[in-house]
Amino acid sequence: MLFNQMGRLDLGHTDAALYALRMRTEFNRILGVDSKMVGPQEIKQLVPSMSLREGLSYPILGALYHPPCGVIRHDAVVWGFGRGADRGGAELHPFTEVTAIDRANGRVTGVQTTRGFVGAEIVLNATAGWSSEVARLAGVDLPITTHPLQAMVTEPLKPFLDKTISSANLHAYVYQTDRGEVVIGGGVDPYPSYSMRSALLPMEQLAGHTLEMFPCLSKVKVLRQWAGLCDMTPDYAPIMGPVDGLDGFIVSCGWGSWGFKAAPAAGKNIASLIATGETPDLIRPFRLSRFHEGKLVNERAAAPAAAIH
Ligand SMILES: Cc1cc2nc3c(=O)[nH]c(=O)nc-3n(C[C@H](O)[C@H](O)[C@H](O)COP(=O)(O)OP(=O)(O)OC[C@H]3O[C@@H](n4cnc5c(N)ncnc54)[C@H](O)[C@@H]3O)c2cc1C
Repeated sequence: MLFNQMGRLDLGHTDAALYALRMRTEFNRILGVDSKMVGPQEIKQLVPSMSLREGLSYPILGALYHPPCGVIRHDAVVWGFGRGADRGGAELHPFTEVTAIDRANGRVTGVQTTRGFVGAEIVLNATAGWSSEVARLAGVDLPITTHPLQAMVTEPLKPFLDKTISSANLHAYVYQTDRGEVVIGGGVDPYPSYSMRSALLPMEQLAGHTLEMFPCLSKVKVLRQWAGLCDMTPDYAPIMGPVDGLDGFIVSCGWGSWGFKAAPAAGKNIASLIATGETPDLIRPFRLSRFHEGKLVNERAAAPAAAIH
């Protein structure tokens, strides 16, 4: 470590990047997360197909390796939750849009939908990219911007990659599915929009960044590309809990950077809030009022490939 005349840490770009990675590794370990830093030699052994860019600009000097990492099949997760909710007696009404939220005397009384009115003492807004629009139906402002996020998939290849690679510098992640397709994704589009159309520019950028890591994919065809909406908050952390000034209105949104991984914990704690009226300690820091209180939860590093830069 080097210190300047002011006694402050003074590192070059490369040292600073490695230092930041080391900080993150040690922080993970303090929290009991099984991850470690690896250098170029070990990276080459773990992912032989990846270019370490030796002799080029921005060579790969280190990585954070998380051995228990895995890929979850997200649609199967949703089916599982759907079946569980059904078994527990919940009614699911697909293709039913909430068009208005009725209120009286400072509390919600129900929702108007495209298939009629549903009376409710508690309304949970968990509508992701649309959550700020839906909150507006209840007269509530959410500090959420909605950004498209695009991903793509290549034609199937023989197995060559059994790790998920995510580059915070290139804003790209790459992994191979059990069907052999290579899934490629990155950060959200840099502008807010509700468009769910795939676009050429993000595809070109993702392809370019992927080829920097895996030049061996240069002749591989992209099979399909898709886009969805991400609900981004100013501090990159979700918003969970009741809304001051409107009894019975609860939000669970702003999951655009964390993704769906925390859904089980969020669901359990939100269910507890609905059942007891008490906000569980685990989700209290994520309350909406934190933005007025200046008590932000800085989670910018939570999804390095998805952060807006
Ligand atoms: C391309 C892409 C790749 C991603 N990759 C990952 C990844 O690798 N890992 C990860 O963890 N996360 C990933 N995510 C993010 C993850 O998908 C989301 O964060 C997660 O699905 C959000 O869950 P949710 O329950 O909050 O909302 P959603 O699952 O989006 O559900 C919101 C629901 O609200 C409904 N709705 C909206 N408006 C209304 C209305 N007016 N009335 C009634 N219903 C309404 C919508 O139809 C939708 O069904 C990705 C997202 C995209 C777009």
